[in-house]
Amino acid sequence: MTDSAPLAALVVAAGRGTRLGGPVPKQYRRVAGRPVLTHTLGHLLAPALFEQILVVIHPDDGTSFSEALAPLGAAGSAIRVCAGGASRQDSVRLGLEALAEAGLPDRAVVLIHDAARPFASEAVLLRAVLAAQRHGAAIPVLPVPDTLAVLDEAGHLAGNPDRNSIRLVQTPQAFRFGAVLAAHRQALAEGRTDFTDDAGLTAAYGQTVGSFAGDGALFKITREEDLDRAERHLAPQAETRTGLGYDVHAFTEGDHVWLGGVAIPHGRKLLGHSDADPLLHALTDALLGTIGDGDIGMHFPPSDPRWKGAPSRLFLADAARRVAERGGRIVSVDCTVLAEAPKVGPHRPAMQVLIGEVLGLAPERVGIKATTSEKLGFVGRSEGIAAMAIATVMFGGG
Ligand code: MG
Repeated sequence: MTDSAPLAALVVAAGRGTRLGGPVPKQYRRVAGRPVLTHTLGHLLAPALFEQILVVIHPDDGTSFSEALAPLGAAGSAIRVCAGGASRQDSVRLGLEALAEAGLPDRAVVLIHDAARPFASEAVLLRAVLAAQRHGAAIPVLPVPDTLAVLDEAGHLAGNPDRNSIRLVQTPQAFRFGAVLAAHRQALAEGRTDFTDDAGLTAAYGQTVGSFAGDGALFKITREEDLDRAERHLAPQAETRTGLGYDVHAFTEGDHVWLGGVAIPHGRKLLGHSDADPLLHALTDALLGTIGDGDIGMHFPPSDPRWKGAPSRLFLADAARRVAERGGRIVSVDCTVLAEAPKVGPHRPAMQVLIGEVLGLAPERVGIKATTSEKLGFVGRSEGIAAMAIATVMFGGG
């Protein structure tokens, strides 16, 4: 902050919202299960900028207002309320008078905001405060992306205003408190009701009004489709997570190895507590990695006699269940077997089908690859088989 003037927010919530239709004013319609006003106030409370937040409501809306305040818990108890008037201009003036009665000094900065613009970010609020401190009054504006047209009475094109000098105006509008209060009092004394907003009103009484960058998220809920837009604004975004797995098992006396859930005849077998399938163990760890839920040894300790000789697809199915319980949808998995022998290629289709069945994936989403180690290292000396796996899982996004 560039100066220490107190900060206040005045929220105009007294309208009837007639354009949206229905018996409930738009500021009390629900978005993500909560009234629009709850979202608006929550965004004003979040950055802890304002010493006072005052909401101007319609005298009939006391119950609706209490319901909107309830989800905010203790933070909401600091919000004060006053009754509005017959017009928006009246309601703002009554709110400003209530702030004056509460002792808000003239040098304070007050943000005047519409209840029906629920998503004021901290960045926008800070821009508003700084712009008011610099200019005395300021409005959030957006450029006009489309060409503008003036139509005559017949609806024919009569001209194109220069859109470079035109802006869309949003709220919160920000003012030095003394200036905006004086302007509203003067408008009342003169009986003037022709102002479209508080910036226009204060400008009419000589106040310079600056501007600052608005925000697309400050859209106003006016029509039914705006409620849908607000729902989408709050919907969790989809995210992709990736998990990694690696496993090794050593050879011992035997006549087959388990790889990818398939028993492959071989001159030796792999040593392990379960069926010792390094591919499924690596894959299980990869899935657990996408949810930060430990590793296979934590969930199925080798010390537990229940897992002696167990088929490793049980471990894989358990990891898939854990991912699903956390809302994850497995997109694909990919594995590489490191072994001098046996050959994996002839068994690849069977592995893809088996793993796909356990994970609910089409075979083309199950990558199975194999490589030798060029006689290098423990794999190259045929002392064991290693496997690596990676899993891709989507979360959220409906
Ligand atoms: Mg293992």
